[in-house]
Order: sequence, then C-alpha cells, then structure tokens
Amino acid sequence: MIEVFDEDLHSGVNLALEVGEIYYREKTDLQDLLIFEHARFGRVMALDGSIQTTENDEFIYHEMFVHVPLLAHGNVKNVLIVGGGDGGAARQLMKHDDINVTLVDIDRTVIDLSVEYMPKVSGGAFDDPRLNVIIADGCQYVKETADRFDVIIVDSTDPHGPGQVLFTQEFYSDCKSCLTDGGIIVTQNGCPFVQGDELRDSYERLGTLFQDVSFYMATIPSYVGGPLAFGWATDNKALRNVDLGTLAERFLTAELQTDYYTPEIHKAAFVLPLYVQKLLTAEKA
Ligand code: SAM
Repeated sequence: MIEVFDEDLHSGVNLALEVGEIYYREKTDLQDLLIFEHARFGRVMALDGSIQTTENDEFIYHEMFVHVPLLAHGNVKNVLIVGGGDGGAARQLMKHDDINVTLVDIDRTVIDLSVEYMPKVSGGAFDDPRLNVIIADGCQYVKETADRFDVIIVDSTDPHGPGQVLFTQEFYSDCKSCLTDGGIIVTQNGCPFVQGDELRDSYERLGTLFQDVSFYMATIPSYVGGPLAFGWATDNKALRNVDLGTLAERFLTAELQTDYYTPEIHKAAFVLPLYVQKLLTAEKA
C-alpha cells in the first residue's frame, strides 16, 4: 500500500504526493516535521502538513528570493534571513562575495534535519564562517537587535502556527527599523490565486511603512496554486527598476551559477498579471 502525503494548505485544494522512503517524521516542540522521498521532487520537507522545500525545485525559489534583491541593490554587505531553516536561501547567499548573513530560525530541529537529510539544499552553507545562526523567534529578534541589514529575507512558513507573527504590521515595522537606508525586505507571500487575502494584507501593511511596495513572481512546481509572489518593499524606488544592462553587468561580475535566475527573468518577474494587480487594488470583501 503506497502511502500518500496529502497537503490541504488551501481549503478545497489538495496536493497528493506518493511517499517513498520516510527519513524523519516527528513533532518538534514547535512544528510537525516530515522529510520523505518523492520520485519527481526528490527529498521533500513538510512542516505542519505544508510543503516547505523539495530538493528538485528549491533552486527556483531560493535563486529568485536571493539574487533579485541582491543584484537590484548592488552593494549588499549584511543580510538577515528570518526563517529559512532549510538553508536554501543561505546557500544562494554564500555565492555572493563580501557579505555577512544572520539567519534567525525558531526551530533548530529544522536546520539539523535539513543538513542531515537534505544536504543538497543548504550545500554546506551552515559551515560557512560568513553565516551566523541564531535560534529565536524572528519577531522578537527584529524588535531587539541593534544590527542593521541591507536586505531582509523573510523565508517563513505560511501565516499559521509560529509563522503567523511574520506577517504582522508590528513585524514589518520592526524589520524596517533594522534596514539600512534604501534597504530591501523581501517576503514569502504565497500563491495569489489561492492566497489572495495574504497578498493584499502584506501589500497594505508594508504600504504604510515603505515608499515602494510590490511583488515579483515565480512558479515553484511543489507550491500548489500557480505562481508564487515574493513581497518587495523599500524606500528606494529606483531599486525595482534597475535597468537590464546594470543587472547583467552585476550578474556577470558576481559570477553566479544559476539554473533559473537570469537578469531578463529578474525584470520580467516584476510584471504582474492583471488578476494579481486587481487583487491589490480590489476593495477588501
Ligand atoms: N520555502 C518555505 C515556504 O515557502 O513556506 C519556507 C521554508 S523554511 C523551512 C520556513 C522556516 O520558518 C522554518 O524553518 C520555520 O522553523 C521558520 N519559522 C516559522 N516561524 C518562525 C518565527 N516566528 N521566527 C523564525 N523562524 C520561524
């Protein structure tokens, strides 16, 4: 009898994956953690019943999450990742020279098990001296830290359980206090087709704090519901419109090895389809 992993993150919409070998299944103090093998996605990590990352499609998500803000900014020295315990964003960040990264995740077990059972995702990032790992609630950390960051990457679970606080006005406001002038915050903001309310909430909350708020998109096959939206917020309006030539030059200089990101994809990702634009301007139901 083949076991099936059934993700019902969005009511009425289920994603069923045939489960191969199970590497880990246990409830940590905070979250229900499952890591299993899938024929197409490779090793899959799920938290509280929602897919977090898979070995075979994580490159799309982590390349877009990291290289878009870093190449748009052009002079990033310090980065904060809130969440990101699988290490995928950290791995992409380690491809950039002259940066220091602080990763704040609430659950040490996610990090340990990702390194043990899905080492390709973090690719040794947790052993890199440029990465400083702090186990804490990201919401608390940004309230208390005296450190300042050029980019903040909110690589959170969806707004359920411990991840819920990472979608609040209070958290975004404290993130802004941790940003350097003209710094950028990017967020995991779900698939608008099935998570439209989350998109609009983030747009409104970030909009009260930053001069320029928008989204950019990419389709990650294991995230059901169509293209995923990355939230984008900064006080430097020029950063979202950096020209293709500059991005291409920075991409070349950084000598980044990628499998999804290109400067052209970067520019195109900010062109939002009309249904997403309408979500942002629609009156709340
Ligand atoms: N790519 C995934 C997605 O799109 O849902 C996110 C991956 S990453 C595994 C999510 C991380 O957020 C987990 O490691 C979890 O422990 C962490 N997390 C959840 N709530 C948190 C909080 N309040 N502070 C810090 N980390 C948190």
